[in-house]
Amino acid sequence: KKRLFSGIQPSGEVHIGNYLGAIKNWVGMIDRYDCIFCIVDYHAITVEYDPKEMQNRIINAAAVNIAAGLDPNKCILFVQSHVPEHTELAWILNTVTPMGHLERMTQFKDKAKQHRDNINAGLFTYPVLQAADILVYKAEAVPIGEDQVQHIELAREIARKFNSRYGEIFPDPKEILSDAPRIMGIDGKTKMSKSRDNYISLVESSESIWKKLSTAVTDENRKRRTDPGNPEICNLFTLHKHYSSIEQIERINRECRTAEIGCVECKKILYENIIKALSPIREKYEELIKDKHSIIDILHEGAKKCKNMAEITMAEVRRQMGLT
Ligand code: ATP
Ligand code: MG
Repeated sequence: KKRLFSGIQPSGEVHIGNYLGAIKNWVGMIDRYDCIFCIVDYHAITVEYDPKEMQNRIINAAAVNIAAGLDPNKCILFVQSHVPEHTELAWILNTVTPMGHLERMTQFKDKAKQHRDNINAGLFTYPVLQAADILVYKAEAVPIGEDQVQHIELAREIARKFNSRYGEIFPDPKEILSDAPRIMGIDGKTKMSKSRDNYISLVESSESIWKKLSTAVTDENRKRRTDPGNPEICNLFTLHKHYSSIEQIERINRECRTAEIGCVECKKILYENIIKALSPIREKYEELIKDKHSIIDILHEGAKKCKNMAEITMAEVRRQMGLT
C-alpha cells in the first residue's frame, strides 16, 4: 500500500469545507492506503491563540475526525508536537528552501494580511514544516483542499532539492483533490475557514445552522423575491450539489432562474438536507467526547507508531548529510 499523509489544524471548529474538501476523501481512501492523519498543533501556533483552549481544540479535532469516519483501527491519528522529528526535519529542509519560493506562497500573504500585528517567521516557514510532516513518513499521497496545492508543489521541490544534494531519500509527494476542493464561506467572500466567522461546523446544533443559513449570502443581484436568480453564482447552490437530491438540485436550478422558488424556501431545503447528513456525525461526536481519555490514548498510540517511522527516516537523513 502507498503511504498517505494529511493534516488538520486545531485552529477552531472543523467545518463542512474541511469535510467536503479533505476529510471525506480521507475516509474514502482509508482502506486503499497506509494512512496517517495529523492534528498539526505546531502549525496552529503560527497565529495568535489562547493556550488555555489548545488542549480542548486538539481533542475536539480528533473526536470530530473520528466521528466523521477516521476509524482509528484503520489509520493512524496523532498530534504533530508528539513527534519532534517533524520539527527536526523542518530545520534541515529550511536549509534547502529558497526564500523566494516562500515569498510567493498565497497562504502566507493571506494570513499576513489577516494578522498584520503578528507576521512571524513561523508563519513564513509554515510550508517547510508541512513538507517535513509529509516527507518524514515518505508519504506519496496527500489529499487536501485547493488552498494547499501550492504548498504540496513546494514540498515536491524541497524533496527534489534535498535528494539532488544529499542522495535519493524522499519520494515525490502528490496532492489529491476532492470533488469539492474549495467551499466558499457563508459570507460568500472567501473560502470557508476555521479562523473566519464564515463556517458551518460539522457538529453544530440545528438552530445554529439555521441561524447561519438564513443570513447566508446568495446571488447578490437577486434583491427582491420576484427577481430571477442565477444559481451558478450562488454559493448555497454549490452546497445543494453536495447535500441535496438530484431532483431537488434540478428543481432549484430551474425555479431560481424564473423566480418560482425564493431564497428562503431554497435555504430550508438545504437546511433539512444538511441536518440529515450531519446528525450522525454529531451524535457520534457527542458520544466520543464524553470519554476524553480514550481519545488521548488513541493519539498517544498513534504518536508511538509515527515516532518509530520518523526515527528511521531521520537516521537516514543524518547519515546522508554527514551528521553522524
Ligand atoms: P484555518 O482558517 O485555521 O487555516 P482551515 O479551515 O483553512 O483553518 P486547515 O486546518 O487549514 O483548515 O485545513 C485542513 C484541510 O481542509 C486542508 O486540506 C485544507 O485544504 C482543507 N480546506 C480548508 N478549507 C477548505 C475549504 N473552504 N474548502 C475545501 N477544503 C478546505
Ligand atoms: Mg487553512
